[in-house]
Amino acid sequence: MLDARPAPLVQVEDLKMHFPIYSGLFRRHTGDVKAVDGVSFDIMAGQTLGLVGESGCGKSTVGRAILRLYEPTAGRVIIDGEDVAQMQPGPLRKKRPTMQMVFQDPQASLNPRMTLADIVAEPLDEHTDWTRDKKLERVHELMDQVGLNRRFANRFPHEFSGGQRQRIGIARALALKPQFIVCDEPIAALDVSIQAQVVNLLEDLQEKLGLTYLFISHDLSMVRHLAQRVAVMYLGRICELSPSSDLYARPLHPYAEALLSAVNEPDPELAATRNRIILKGDVPSPANPPKGCNFCTRCPKVMDICRQVKPDLAEVEPGRQVACHLYHNNSAAGSTGAPEANERNQQGETQ
Ligand code: SF4
Repeated sequence: MLDARPAPLVQVEDLKMHFPIYSGLFRRHTGDVKAVDGVSFDIMAGQTLGLVGESGCGKSTVGRAILRLYEPTAGRVIIDGEDVAQMQPGPLRKKRPTMQMVFQDPQASLNPRMTLADIVAEPLDEHTDWTRDKKLERVHELMDQVGLNRRFANRFPHEFSGGQRQRIGIARALALKPQFIVCDEPIAALDVSIQAQVVNLLEDLQEKLGLTYLFISHDLSMVRHLAQRVAVMYLGRICELSPSSDLYARPLHPYAEALLSAVNEPDPELAATRNRIILKGDVPSPANPPKGCNFCTRCPKVMDICRQVKPDLAEVEPGRQVACHLYHNNSAAGSTGAPEANERNQQGETQ
């Protein structure tokens, strides 16, 4: 029987992004910084996947490697049926309009010598042969969509506030009518009072234009409201990928649990059940990750097997994937499933 479910718009399979280290007099290749080390996920059309983790965990590198702003070391990135990771320059250029990025720092990503109209029209100059009037018409349409007054078209970036500059960045990303947008910490550089406005704008645009987002952020509370599913990254790998509501109500992976214990919980009942978990030690270097589970040097629930065998990201409950021996069959933990593992682990902790 044919599978009637629609295929995901974005499918990332075992994506790796390693940066070579050269050292010594002859600049010999002596190792690699494994910034992204085997990341896989799907995003359905019109949905948002949140990608969260501490700074340096590799989440922004994932976004850039997906859009081929970096050349991935290995893996597949299927966007709307085509493997972007393997594309030759010609077809990749044709594909670019369908996949765009909103950057973290609007100040740094906008050319200070160009007017708003020129900045937003830049992708149109690059990918269309439209007349000047047609391009200006599209720029005005985009300014309306992102809530910028048309009278500002000839102003320069420094004449705008941080929130307005991010709206310009969003208008530029929308210029070629993309299907998929990587939002790389789009609100991190903005005042708290402005953050919600930009998030609301992104949500409105998603609804109106049917956009698909990969929303990268270290702000877990913001991702909660935006994303249907959330992937938690640690040291270049995804440790948990769950529906947002499940993850925030009951994180499974010990790192996700620690990360979420620091987030303010609006539900008083849930908040009362949550203890703050302070992790010991520093994040290891991605140039020299630990053997076995990459969280084993800091995990409060570490077992012997964790220091030997790398746990795969596998489904442990419907729709929930976790990379942890506590939840996997066949591990030395002898687990038969997540709840039993949890129970045994909690008993172990309190003994
Ligand atoms: Fe902790 Fe082991 Fe699970 Fe890694 S595999 S998160 S070290 S319990």
